[in-house]
Amino acid sequence: MSYTALYRKFRPQEFEDVKGQEHIVTTLKNQIKADRVGHAYLFCGTRGTGKTTIAKIFAKAVNCQEPREGSPCGDCPSCREIAAGNSMNVIEIDAASNNGVDNIREIREEVAYSPTKGKYKVYIIDEVHMLSMGAFNALLKTLEEPPSYVIFILATTEAHKIPITILSRCQRYDFKRITVETIAGRLSELMEKEQVAVEDKAIRYVARAADGSMRDALSLLDQCIAFYLGETLTYDHVLEVLGAVDTEVFSQMLRRILSQDVTGALLLLEELIGKGREPGQFVVDFTWYLRNLLLLQSTENIEDALDISTENQKLLREEASMVEMGQLMRYIRIFSELSSQIRYAVQKRILIEVALIKLCKPQMERDYDSLAQRVAQLEQKVEEGVLVQPASPAEDTGAAAWQEASRKQSPTEEEASLVQAAPEDIRQVIENWNTILEGLPGGLKNFLKTAELIPAGGNTLSVIMENEVKEAFVNTEAHIKELTERIQEKTGKSIEVQIRAREAAAAKRKPNPDFKGHINMEVTFEDGMG
Ligand SMILES: [Zn+2]
Repeated sequence: MSYTALYRKFRPQEFEDVKGQEHIVTTLKNQIKADRVGHAYLFCGTRGTGKTTIAKIFAKAVNCQEPREGSPCGDCPSCREIAAGNSMNVIEIDAASNNGVDNIREIREEVAYSPTKGKYKVYIIDEVHMLSMGAFNALLKTLEEPPSYVIFILATTEAHKIPITILSRCQRYDFKRITVETIAGRLSELMEKEQVAVEDKAIRYVARAADGSMRDALSLLDQCIAFYLGETLTYDHVLEVLGAVDTEVFSQMLRRILSQDVTGALLLLEELIGKGREPGQFVVDFTWYLRNLLLLQSTENIEDALDISTENQKLLREEASMVEMGQLMRYIRIFSELSSQIRYAVQKRILIEVALIKLCKPQMERDYDSLAQRVAQLEQKVEEGVLVQPASPAEDTGAAAWQEASRKQSPTEEEASLVQAAPEDIRQVIENWNTILEGLPGGLKNFLKTAELIPAGGNTLSVIMENEVKEAFVNTEAHIKELTERIQEKTGKSIEVQIRAREAAAAKRKPNPDFKGHINMEVTFEDGMG
């Protein structure tokens, strides 16, 4: 038994079946009813939003012998011919493969002959932005003085590439991205017709994954049905076929990260990979999830930007309230860096693991970006006069996260009474590095032995690890504490230690010459706080 793709089988044959573009359908029907049809139309919008479908129904309607309320009857010879693709009156051209002057000249010659039967010759030029400049000029001549029986419908996903001379001759219609609700509604309707049992949640996931395109939604659903032919299509099936991860997993992951549960986060990742989920897809989806949280925090009315169901929004809002905005931005930065690295990486899993560890351990974030962010916030605080009136930690959402972190890092009273290290003390630490490391646990000691040591200004020592894996291991609160205590014990000096990976350190070395000055300022501020 042959299987017809849903997208072909259920291509709308009348205006009423086209979903999500009611504003366009109504206008076109009114024009047909009033017999005031234009000669050039431009249909713009992302793929799969119904541009060519509406163009074909429109072609049928203007040629229909018994149109009803502006819609084609579907029964007359003309409607049947067009539906079967045999009509001489509907000419479809794909400009992607016919983009030259000669292709358009052919049309111009043809246009000279009136239709043998029916009222209108309708030229549908798809992907019209692909036409060459010469072809556009040739087309313009026809658009300037079209015969009364010709209608041009130009369809494009990239309206900004169409010359203004062409635009000014067309009635323009902008096709909207179709909402998740609308797509889901249509999919349920079709599944009922097809008598395929499918879970509501599965439909919703497909609708969301289609990103506003009905055509994509239908072909995704096709893939899933083909895979589980004859079975009920469940949410889990859909995730499996599409290699995707349930949003609930993201929520679990976030909660583990927030509670600094490294083991839990890594186990969850292991579970996903064990189930055959695509690591790259996970990174992309998780970044989007974080982005949605950030949007929810930043504004009140962003339903359109999110395009997710109301039930999911409620859940997201709850999660958004658990994270500070500054924290979220850092998460997004780490994960979007990761998504560009991961594409060509062989060890995708390790890269994700390192990123997750970074997220779980905010105190590890001591690179230029996060320091710069902290400095910027400090400057703002100083301007606002917070030094005079110390802020309560919860007062400012953005700053609270790092305040929390910096309070952990700022010296306790006992430590503060120790003499602050001067640059020559840093040098002394570097010279006695191997002696200092004696007595540290084996793994930590071995990793630190091969590190490169660089004075980073003030009382800070940069410890550059060979790679990110070693960095991730050393750069934990516990290990840093162990190391700094060890240095104190051996030298009597309290110094700040910064752990970084070699690649990251090299990339970050060039920026802002004022960097050191800012660091000193931060140290002053923290003393003021203590
Ligand atoms: Zn008809």
